This record gives sequence, structure tokens and C-alpha cells, in this order.
Amino acid sequence: MRCPFCRHPDSRVIDSREMDDGQAIRRRRSCPQCSRRFSTVEAAVLMVVKRSGVTEPFQRSKVITGVRRACQGRPVGDDDLAQLAQQVEETIRAWGMAEVASQQVGLAILDPLRELDEVAYLRFASVYRSYTSAEDFAAEIADMRRRAKGGDAGPGDDTEPADGTGPGTARGRPETGRPRARGVPVS
Ligand SMILES: [Zn+2]
Repeated sequence: MRCPFCRHPDSRVIDSREMDDGQAIRRRRSCPQCSRRFSTVEAAVLMVVKRSGVTEPFQRSKVITGVRRACQGRPVGDDDLAQLAQQVEETIRAWGMAEVASQQVGLAILDPLRELDEVAYLRFASVYRSYTSAEDFAAEIADMRRRAKGGDAGPGDDTEPADGTGPGTARGRPETGRPRARGVPVS
């Protein structure tokens, strides 16, 4: 690994230790040229298989993009979305798989989104959960109304098509997920 201080093309590992219950390894490195030290973190890249069959690294920003559209007009802030995306990543990583389907990412979004905002949840779920029949969907809505006790979780104003809101369809966002390895300069 290249030294982040002097760009020397090689460095020496002087210590390795596990982080996050073995999901990542932190290495202390020393540069043979400038003798400065830095750390790297190595973690498995979580890949998402899109419906098209294309795989790409998991990105929290894509979860946020997808969920934000379902949250239009709802009292959900950027902090809520960032927290939800973190929860989703933790859930998926806890499955211990190197690769997940984009539909599984959608399913991992459902529970935390329901906690956050039921209307947004319904919009999102209408795309990502495969209801076996219209009755299932109606039952879901009735269940929500019961829990909301007369709240605003009705389906009446949620008929807009939630097209392209998923993590598999967002485009052009910079990657903000966990990088393959990150150098942390330590002076
Ligand atoms: Zn160096």
C-alpha cells in the first residue's frame, strides 16, 4: 500500500487487529522511506446484484436516494435518512453475505422505514414487497390504520407510482459506503 505522506509505493505492516467482531481488520503500517505511520482498514466489499445482473458495491447514498422519494412531503429529515441507511447496512452486513440482491436491500429498508414513517413505508413497500394479492395489501393497510389509531396512514393519497425509487435504479451519486481500504494518516 502506497504511503499517504510521501507516496512511496510500499509500506510495512507493523500490527493487525480485528474490528467489529472480525468484520474488518485494522493494520498499522510504517513507511520505509519517510518512516511515518498510518493505518488502513480492510473489510469485505458488500456487493449488490441488480435486477439486470450487474453487480456494484453497496452504497448508503443509494438507499437514501430511494427512500427520500418515498418520503416526499413527510416529516423525515436528512439525519433520519442517514440513520436509516446506516441501519440498513448493518442489517445486511449482519447477514454475513458477500453479495445480496437489490430486492433484499429493499426488504432490509422496510422495517426501519416503517418505524420512521408509515406513509413513506407504504409507498416504498408497494414497490418492494411482492404482495401475493391485493387483499394482502389491503390487510397491510388495515393493520397500519389500527396501529396508527386514526392517524394519517391511509392509502388514499399514496397512489402515485413509486417508479425508480429503489437502490438499484439510483444514478450518479458518489460512493459514500465503506471503502475497500482507507488510509488514516497518523502524525
Ligand atoms: Zn512515506
